Amino acid sequence: GTLADTLTRGVETVTGTVSETFFEPVIRLGVTGLSRAGKTVFITSLVANMLDRGRMPQLAAQTEGRILTAYLQPQPDDTIPRFDYETHLGALTARTPHWPDSTRAVSELRLSLRVRPTGLIAGLQGPRVIHIDIVDYPGEWLLDLGLMDKDYASWSADMLGRLDHRPEGPKFIEMARAEDAKAPFEESRARQLSEAYTRSLHAARDAGFSDCSPGRFLLPGEMAGSPVLTFAPLPPQDGAPRKSLWREMERRFDAYKSQVVRPFFRDHFSRIDRQVVLVDALGAIHAGPRAVEDLRRTMAEILSAFRPGRNAFLSQLLMGKRVERILFAATKADHLHHSQHPRLTAIMEALMRDARDRASFAGAHTQAMSLAALRATTEETLRHEGADLDVVRGTLQGGKRAAFYPGDLPSDPNALLNPARQGEADWLGGDYRIMNFEPQPLSLKPGDGPPHIRLDRAAQFLLGDRL
Ligand code: GDP
Repeated sequence: GTLADTLTRGVETVTGTVSETFFEPVIRLGVTGLSRAGKTVFITSLVANMLDRGRMPQLAAQTEGRILTAYLQPQPDDTIPRFDYETHLGALTARTPHWPDSTRAVSELRLSLRVRPTGLIAGLQGPRVIHIDIVDYPGEWLLDLGLMDKDYASWSADMLGRLDHRPEGPKFIEMARAEDAKAPFEESRARQLSEAYTRSLHAARDAGFSDCSPGRFLLPGEMAGSPVLTFAPLPPQDGAPRKSLWREMERRFDAYKSQVVRPFFRDHFSRIDRQVVLVDALGAIHAGPRAVEDLRRTMAEILSAFRPGRNAFLSQLLMGKRVERILFAATKADHLHHSQHPRLTAIMEALMRDARDRASFAGAHTQAMSLAALRATTEETLRHEGADLDVVRGTLQGGKRAAFYPGDLPSDPNALLNPARQGEADWLGGDYRIMNFEPQPLSLKPGDGPPHIRLDRAAQFLLGDRL
C-alpha cells in the first residue's frame, strides 16, 4: 500500500476510532473460495448492489439512509491487477446475459462510501469516507499454507496417498513409482511428471475433489511453465545423490514454498481485515459422498489459515494481526426453493463447527449463511402426484425455461458430514445435474440492483459494524 495507507492503518490500530476523524478508514475485504465457488459473481453483484443500493434492506446503514454516495476509485496497490468489474457486469447485463469469466489470480477493487455516522458523534461530524478494498483470490492458494510446514518427502507421501482413490490418480502413482528418481535430473522427465500430475489434479477437481495442491498447478497465472511449477510428488528415496531427479524436485518444491506461497501470504493474505469464504456446497453434495468428505477436509484446511496459532510460519507473519470477521457462505442457493435454505445453512454451520472444533478462531466473529449473489431462478409450488412440490424455474443454456426439483437435502447435516453415514442417501440426486441456469436478463432501473438472495445480510455481517 501507499505510505498514507500504512499510516492510516497504523494509527487506527493504536487509537481506535479517534483516528477516523483525521483519516479515511480502510476495510480490506478478502473474497475467496475454490474455483467455480462463485467469487467473481459475488464481487460483481456486491459492488453493483452497493453502488445502486435498491435491494439491500438488511444493510442497516442503507435502511437508515446513512450511505450518501458509493463510488469506485483507483485502488491503493499499483501492482495488483484490478478486478474487472465493468467487463463482468457487462456479461451479466448483456442482451443475452452470460456468466463472467472466473477468478484466475489475485485482483483488487476499491469501493468507497460516503457515510453519515450514527449516534452522538453524528451531530459533531459531517459525513466521512470509508474505503472498502475488495481482494479476490483463489482458495486453492490458501491450501498451500499446508505445504509450509512440510518438506518434499512428507508432502509427496501425503499426495500419493490421496491420489490412490481419485480418477487418474492410480495412473500417476504408477508413473511416479516407475521413475528412477536417483538418476541424473533431466528437464524433460520433470516436465512429463509434472504434466501428468497436473492432469490428475484437473481430473480430481472435475470429479468434485477440492484438495488439489499445489494450488498454482491448477491456476498458474504468469508462472505457467516456470521451474517452480515443474515438479511432482515422488515416492521417498533414501540417499538420492546430488543432481538427481529427486533432489531437483525437492529443490523446486522448496522454491515454490519460498517464492510463491510465502509472498502471497505476506503481501495479500496478511493484510485482510474481513473475509468471506464461498463454498459450492451444493455441487459437492451432488457429486457424492467422496466429494463431500473431501470438501469437509478441505474447508477445515482452508479455515486453518484463519487460526494462525496453529501454524508457525503464519503466526510469525501476522504478528498478532487477525481477521476480525469470517463469513462462510454456501453459494448458488437459488438452485433450491427457500424452504430448503435452512438445511443448506445448517450444513455450512456443521462444516464450520467441524473446522472450529479443532482450534478456535480466537477473537474472530464467524457466521455461516446460504446465499445467491445473482438469483437466476424463480420459485413455484407445483402439484405432483397429489402432493405439493417446491420447485425453482430457470433458463437453461439455449434459452429453454424449465422448472426443477433438485431433490432434498438431509434434515440432519451430520448425516451428510459423517463419513460413516454418507452412503445412506442420494442427496440432490435428481435434476440437479442439469440445472446449469443462465443468468436472467436484468433490467436495471436506477435503484434496482441485480436480484440476489441474502447478499445484503452478507454485507451487513462483513461491513455493517464499520459503517
Ligand atoms: P469463481 O471461480 O469463484 O470466480 O466462480 P464464478 O463467480 O465465476 O462462478 C462460477 C459459476 O457458478 C458461474 O459461472 C455460474 O455458472 C455459477 N454461479 C455463481 N454464482 C451463482 C449464483 O448466485 N446463482 C447461480 N444460479 N449460479 C451461480
